[in-house]
Amino acid sequence: MRALCWHGKNDVRVDSVPDPSILDPTDAIIRVTATAICGSDLHLVDGYQPTMENGDVLGHEPMGVVMEVGSAVKNLKPGDRVVVPFVIACGCCYFCSRQLFSHCDDSNPNAEMARKVMGQSPAGMFGYSHMLGGFAGGQAEYLRVPYADVGPIKIESDLPDDKVLFLSDIFPTGYMAAENAGIEAGDTVAVWGCGPVGQFVIQSCWMLGAGRVIAIDRVAERLQLAADKGRAETINFDDEDVYDKLMEMTNGRGPDRCIDAVGTEAHGAGSMDAVIDKAKAALMLGTDRPHVLREAIRCCRKGGTISVPGVYVGMLDNFPMGPAMNKGLTFRMGQTHVQKYLAPLLEKIQDGQIDPSFIITHRLPLEDAPRAYDLFKGKDDGCIKVVLHP
Ligand code: NAD
Ligand code: ZN
Repeated sequence: MRALCWHGKNDVRVDSVPDPSILDPTDAIIRVTATAICGSDLHLVDGYQPTMENGDVLGHEPMGVVMEVGSAVKNLKPGDRVVVPFVIACGCCYFCSRQLFSHCDDSNPNAEMARKVMGQSPAGMFGYSHMLGGFAGGQAEYLRVPYADVGPIKIESDLPDDKVLFLSDIFPTGYMAAENAGIEAGDTVAVWGCGPVGQFVIQSCWMLGAGRVIAIDRVAERLQLAADKGRAETINFDDEDVYDKLMEMTNGRGPDRCIDAVGTEAHGAGSMDAVIDKAKAALMLGTDRPHVLREAIRCCRKGGTISVPGVYVGMLDNFPMGPAMNKGLTFRMGQTHVQKYLAPLLEKIQDGQIDPSFIITHRLPLEDAPRAYDLFKGKDDGCIKVVLHP
């Protein structure tokens, strides 16, 4: 089959690789019909994950049609149309039974490696390094889906792929980030990052009772989409000081809830050395713009909440514990427990409360995936979200 493979920093190619096959009785094989590129993929392309290997298949936002199921699979059969969550979860361990699927104890075959670094192992994830299981990803013609009775959600209506694809990751991720922010009726929420995740955060804030949403980015098209239909007031961080502006907009008190939908940010910052220099300057000398999380800690009102869906790949971050402690902030974060949100969010799509296709700006064949990565990473040609069609 054809698949998008990682070959090193800023080097992805479409290669011919062996078709996947059923390895465990709980597996299914799907033929991928639509598959998206995520900001998380950019962290891999930027070379932040040391446990990538030459030829690894990327992609964790796929949907498709079931081709084959293992002997133990009960809920799926060939021909079923499914969306596949990026998190792989067994469905029955201590964490899965508490709906904490991204903490699954049994789905990461390389748990020992992860444990050495983090103390405990997160769940396995599609196309996201050997530390997270070494599973082939979904930017490919076919995908092996472990624990097929637990993850994939069947789409039985005739909703098109465009409207349901983002259940695989970014709609649940935006929604969980808004939930984690602990929004109370009428709260002012500031959202850093108007990428695909930020856009779903903004929509979800309204679903959860926000009174006001302020969105921060520098990319005109993304700010414009955030502001569309009055969804958010916006701040362009190239033009305005974010702290000063947020204080002005909240009578000096700061937003009640702050959401970091950026995470490790290197895209567009040039070389890795430039990124490191920037990070050092921001952390040690305070001469550069502060990193998003530091800025959020500074801006958040006392007693407020900071929710972090943005992915951090570093293991030794210089975290400003002093201000966070003295302001009595609450932090919530994590990889999304996607499985928990599939049914309720599919219902919102079916009800017409949201049409997730609003973020798609580009559609390309899988063969053009390297160009799609360039567009998405460079935010060129108004690119906000790319969908690939194998
Ligand atoms: P993206 O790279 O397309 O968007 C990031 C946006 O942040 C860009 O528009 C960029 O211009 C903006 N930005 C950069 N620096 C900023 C700053 N200082 N202030 C404000 N905005 C700034 O990525 P995405 O697909 O939207 O993903 C966003 C983050 O969410 C990534 O870190 C990704 O890895 C993460 N993510 C997490 C989960 C999860 O389970 N928690 C799932 C999916 C994605
Ligand atoms: Zn993703």
